[in-house]
Amino acid sequence: MDAITVGVLALQGDFAEHIAMLRGLGVAAVEVRLPAQLAGLDALIIPGGESTTITRLLDIYALREPVRRLGEEGLPIWGTCAGAIVLAKQASDLDRPNLALMDIDVRRNAFGRQVDSFEEDLEVAGFGAPPFHAVFIRAPIIAGVGPGVDVLARLGDGTIVAAREGTLLATSFHPELTGDARFHRLLVGIAEARRRERAAGRRAAPA
Ligand code: GLN
Repeated sequence: MDAITVGVLALQGDFAEHIAMLRGLGVAAVEVRLPAQLAGLDALIIPGGESTTITRLLDIYALREPVRRLGEEGLPIWGTCAGAIVLAKQASDLDRPNLALMDIDVRRNAFGRQVDSFEEDLEVAGFGAPPFHAVFIRAPIIAGVGPGVDVLARLGDGTIVAAREGTLLATSFHPELTGDARFHRLLVGIAEARRRERAAGRRAAPA
């Protein structure tokens, strides 16, 4: 199997930290700024930053429709913080359309000003010990999830902060900032599984 290639949307925000994490895992990582750079990707990360800026730039660079289509076709996509807002079917306070791919309802800046940045250790489904040290920076919450969505992590008060729907992942926090690569490995594992499924599908298809 060729090496997995993960694109990181590099319009705004902390894409460089994601690229460094991926390269640390030995995964090929490329910055995506133009539609042509989406070709051949096995997965895409939408980083944290400012969701209003990222959605604006998605339109300016004509990326919104091609990324949405790839997501619908099953490309694994992971949104962190602002990226989760960009990925969500429902998001509060956006002044333009986002990708509307993942069946989650996200509330921007839901922790308010006083506590808009904090850290918490989370139990993440499937990760085991130790807990995942999560950094929240003016983070959104996932206020609701659709029936096909698995909740991966909650805060102590029950607030959902990580979820998965098939090949789509959303985290309210920033795993690219703490050196714990388990979410990055999860995304790569989803991409590898999709590769295998597609190869098996091609072999099974009549000649
Ligand atoms: N508050 C930002 C937004 O609403 C998200 C912050 C972040 O990505 N750290 O887009």
